[in-house]
Amino acid sequence: MAASSVKLNGTTYRRPQHPVVVVCIDGGDPAYFARGLKDGIVPNVKTFMEKGFSAVAEGTVPSFTCPNNMSIITGTPAARHGISGNFYLDTRSGEAVVMTGPELLRGDTILARFAEAGARVVSITAKDKLRRQLGKGLDLSGGSVSFSSECASRCTLAENGVEDALELAGMPQPEMYSMELSLFVLEAGIRLLERERPDLMYLSLTDWVQHKYAPREPEAMRFYAALDHAFGRLEALGAAVALTADHGMNDKSDAAGRPNVIWLQDLLDAELGKGDVRVICPITDAFVAHHGALGGFVRVWCTGKSKPRDVIAALQGLEGIEQVLDKATACRVHELPADREGDVVVISRAEVCVGGSESAHDLSGLAGHRLRTHGGVSEARVPFILSEPLNDAYRLIAATEALKSYRVFDYALNGTA
Ligand SMILES: [Zn+2]
Repeated sequence: MAASSVKLNGTTYRRPQHPVVVVCIDGGDPAYFARGLKDGIVPNVKTFMEKGFSAVAEGTVPSFTCPNNMSIITGTPAARHGISGNFYLDTRSGEAVVMTGPELLRGDTILARFAEAGARVVSITAKDKLRRQLGKGLDLSGGSVSFSSECASRCTLAENGVEDALELAGMPQPEMYSMELSLFVLEAGIRLLERERPDLMYLSLTDWVQHKYAPREPEAMRFYAALDHAFGRLEALGAAVALTADHGMNDKSDAAGRPNVIWLQDLLDAELGKGDVRVICPITDAFVAHHGALGGFVRVWCTGKSKPRDVIAALQGLEGIEQVLDKATACRVHELPADREGDVVVISRAEVCVGGSESAHDLSGLAGHRLRTHGGVSEARVPFILSEPLNDAYRLIAATEALKSYRVFDYALNGTA
């Protein structure tokens, strides 16, 4: 007999009576829904907002994909789950360590706990690197499913819990840089909901569209209309739908279309001596074509003679910078794991991004496009929408506490009638 609830990190999650679907709209800045509502292209989301619950929540800073997805599926800040970016610097080896695998994720996930308790869980994401992290500890032997649209054509029963993903979605293998990579996730989720009625689904998209197109552009509108249609179908199949995002997105180019970049490594090399400190851009991964590894949040490690206070002094009053924090302050303010934090954290304003050394960033992938990216505090505001209304207890909580996006499973499972 399956358990009626699971407990994780101090929160008890009720096992749902009918399927619950949480969708993470990668890069889903609230501006896209705002524009979509104005243009009348997201009627299902409009209904959710009117009949259910809608707010703008605070996401995890740095406002990157992995930290926020891990916050959502663990129900905790990065200080607890440990994933504070794509990279941190191992000061003993001097090597940048990649954090996008499941190995560095601390503790269990809500998905794994539910599967362990006998629930059927579905986790589908766009990129396979995230699939591995989302699938940490997820036992598929009880009928749970975990795959990525990136590797949909290569699914196996043993590894993914499904082997006919292309047939299931009724779509060809999508291109890596396409809106179909996200739409495939939703389509497969809809079909699985129809076919198998799992208890809990987590569908996590990719932000290719939002990196490339502003909310007013036709491609973005087409994408949002398609998303809305899929959300409506999920609800029509009897699921409670919860929508949030890992982070927002801001245009960080100047009037001429050139990226507004502070090259922090170059700047600190000039101020403190070449190579005295090391700047790590934790947005960097294998898929940087649409952002050139430029984001709104970088870490500085003092590997030479300079002290954190020297770095902070060198950056005081610098235009375009929103926060320069020493490690202890950054960890306290943004709830970050101290053992993976730099000596100084630098966060840029909405219209500006920070990079390392100009020569180390390849911006050729941006050709012809304005730089739209994320990472800072200004991109940590995300939609938080439920298709069902809150119960009295959660209405009170929502009215009195700052709403964190990592509470989305809590709200979806415990917060409705
Ligand atoms: Zn993202």
